[in-house]
Amino acid sequence: MSTKSISHSAQLAKRRLLKAAVTGGAALWAGQGYKLFAAAKPDEQPVTSAVRWGLLVNVSQCGDGCDDCVTACQAENGWGSGSSDEQQSNALQVAQWMRKLDVHNPLDGSTFSLPLMCQHCDSAPCVDVCPTGASFKRADGIVLVDRHTCIGCRYCMMACPYKARSFVHEPLFDQRAHQPRGKGCVESCTLCAHRVDKGKQPACVEACPHGAMVFGDVNDPNSEISQQLAKVSSRELRKNLGLNAGVRYAGIPVV
Ligand code: SF4
Ligand code: SF4
Repeated sequence: MSTKSISHSAQLAKRRLLKAAVTGGAALWAGQGYKLFAAAKPDEQPVTSAVRWGLLVNVSQCGDGCDDCVTACQAENGWGSGSSDEQQSNALQVAQWMRKLDVHNPLDGSTFSLPLMCQHCDSAPCVDVCPTGASFKRADGIVLVDRHTCIGCRYCMMACPYKARSFVHEPLFDQRAHQPRGKGCVESCTLCAHRVDKGKQPACVEACPHGAMVFGDVNDPNSEISQQLAKVSSRELRKNLGLNAGVRYAGIPVV
C-alpha cells in the first residue's frame, strides 16, 4: 500500500472515529430513547420530538460572583428584579426560575458556583403528579406549566427534586406580554421557549459573559452541544433518580 493510500485510510479511520464519538455522545444522552436528528423549527411548524433541547453548563467556566444569567432571566421573563411590581408578603415567597448556588465540598474544602433551574426532565415528576395536566412536557422536551389549568395545588413543587418551581402568592400587574404570570399559579424556567421557537438562544445562555452555557439540539450530532458532550465529561444532577434531565453539568470537581 502506498504512503498516499495509507494516509487516506488513516483519514477515513479518523473521520469514522470522530463520527462515532459525536454519535456516541448524543447516544449517551439519548440512551433513554431519543432519535438522532436535528433541525431548526420554522415558525409555522409545530414542535417535534425530532428535536430534544438541552443545556450544558460548564461550572468551571462559571464566573465567581457572576449572576448575569439570573438577571437576564429576570429581565426576559419579568420576575424578581426584572418585574417592577413583584411583591412578597414573606421573603420565602421569592420567585426562583433560576438560582446561582455556591456549592461547598466539606471533604476537600473546594467550592464552585452552579446555576440551577428546571432541569427539563424527560421523566418529569412534576408532570406525573399534576392532577390537572397543567404541568406538561412538549415533544421537544421543554417542561412548562399551563397557567389556565394550574389550580395552584403545588403538588409539582413538592415532587420536583431540584426545588425548581415557585408559586406566585401576590397579585402581579406588570407582566411581559410573552410571559404572563399570575397569582395562584406555579412557575419555573421555560428554557425561554418563546425565544427558542424563534430560533434564538435562551436569555441566560445569550447573557453569559464566560461562555459557560451551551444550548442546542442534543439529537443533532452536529450541534455544538452534541459536540461538547462528546468531548467533555458531563453529569446529570441526581442521576440516581433516573429522570434523564435536559440540563447537564460539566466541570463539577470530582473528589
Ligand atoms: S426539574 Fe423539577 S420542575 Fe423541572 S421537569 Fe424536573 S421535576 Fe419538573
Ligand atoms: S400547582 Fe398547578 S402545575 Fe403544579 S401540580 Fe398543581 S395544578 Fe399542576
